Amino acid sequence: METRALFGMGLEELTELMAGLGQKPYRARQVWEGVYKQRVASLDEVTTLPTVLREELAAAGWRVGLPVMAQTAVSVDGTERYLMRMADGETVETVWMPDGDGGERGDGSEAAVEEAGEVETAEEAVAGSKNGRQQVPRDARNDSKKGKGNDNGGGEVVGDGGYWSRRGNGRDRSNFGTLAENGFRRATICISSQVGCAVNCQFCLTAKLGIRRNLTAGEIAGQVAAVLNRHGIQIGKDRINLVFMGMGEPFLNYDEFMKSVRLLVEGIGIPESRMTVSTSGILPGIEAFAKETVRPKLALSLNASNDGVREEIMPITRKWNIAALLEAVQKIPLRTREWVTFEYVLLGGVNDQPVHAREVLALLAGMRAKVNLIVWNPGPGIAYHQPTPEDVAVFQGMLIEGGIATYIRRPRGRDIYAACGQLKRTVAEESGVQGLVAIGV
Ligand code: SAH
Ligand code: SF4
Repeated sequence: METRALFGMGLEELTELMAGLGQKPYRARQVWEGVYKQRVASLDEVTTLPTVLREELAAAGWRVGLPVMAQTAVSVDGTERYLMRMADGETVETVWMPDGDGGERGDGSEAAVEEAGEVETAEEAVAGSKNGRQQVPRDARNDSKKGKGNDNGGGEVVGDGGYWSRRGNGRDRSNFGTLAENGFRRATICISSQVGCAVNCQFCLTAKLGIRRNLTAGEIAGQVAAVLNRHGIQIGKDRINLVFMGMGEPFLNYDEFMKSVRLLVEGIGIPESRMTVSTSGILPGIEAFAKETVRPKLALSLNASNDGVREEIMPITRKWNIAALLEAVQKIPLRTREWVTFEYVLLGGVNDQPVHAREVLALLAGMRAKVNLIVWNPGPGIAYHQPTPEDVAVFQGMLIEGGIATYIRRPRGRDIYAACGQLKRTVAEESGVQGLVAIGV
């Protein structure tokens, strides 16, 4: 018998389903509460429903239908990477980035503003990948790297949550554990929107998979529910940030992506202000996004300072160039305290020189923008180089001098291949990079 997932259905769809079974609308509400608020794993747990109705639903093939966590890998820095299996056997990866030290301030909330911290230095960002390990934090230092000329609200960084590096409140973060164990309940979940990706960015391991299929809204939001359940997270008490930055291009799966946002906001209860979606620059998607009333924050993967370089590393630029993308981004009505994040993967010798920094400054002049520098994470069969720490520092310094708040994203979970651009459905046979084997490809 074919099984069907309740997780992923909106309240209206559930109401129709119940009406088809001769049930009143409040039964749909009970299913909705059970599936999204209580996050039950099985229909049996929805005890508000009469047993006969549960049996009737089960007999018709209805299941909660959350993705199954088929495998997990745990990093020395506390990051976890999960292989999530969907009902048809396809798999994607989801990443959990805990921050037990109060270091996360990327969600734009008031509490976040109060916690001072500091971003990763260029040396640490590069060294982190060379060792395949996350750096051990040092003591608090003052806030010398904050962007000048931007109203940064006393060290506030609004952005995409878990990737930002913060430290400096004196808490010991050597003892990673669950949020509850750390007594500081904040984490970021990075979710996938497609199985593979069609965009073909030359530096990204996910691109090697090609596109296999879109994920449904239930499969996208279901990754979040599965991870929340694993960690016993209580929405409302724990602060969860979401980033749509895993496998796939969310704006090439626009409707399901947006439906997942609504399920996560209305059902699971995570505010959209704690969500960030990253796009490689799908123009129609950005235009549609600008019109949404409930939407995450936006990050655009700029990654190059001119169309020539961008076409080389992101061939999709031939379809929609930088000028067109920036024009569309500027039409998004920004909310209070909202910035657009521009991600910029630094590729040694390709886009990391002072001439490029000057071009980026010219491109972003006058925009409410922040730049998030990502030191390129290496992957097998990808012939780029990491930038030198000196070049990273100069690049960041020039953007800051030019008035753009610029941060270096701390690589999370590189030792388990969980960092940006490294998601390729890999499985650690043993701990460490050597043991990684690609599966399903
Ligand atoms: N498809 C979307 C979201 C997923 S990629 C997008 O491209 O924006 C998330 C971020 O990781 C993007 O900014 C992308 O440029 C970056 N990225 C991809 N491969 C990378 C790599 N090998 N090292 C560092 N960042 C990478
Ligand atoms: Fe796809 Fe993003 Fe990777 Fe480009 S960087 S191939 S858009 S996942």
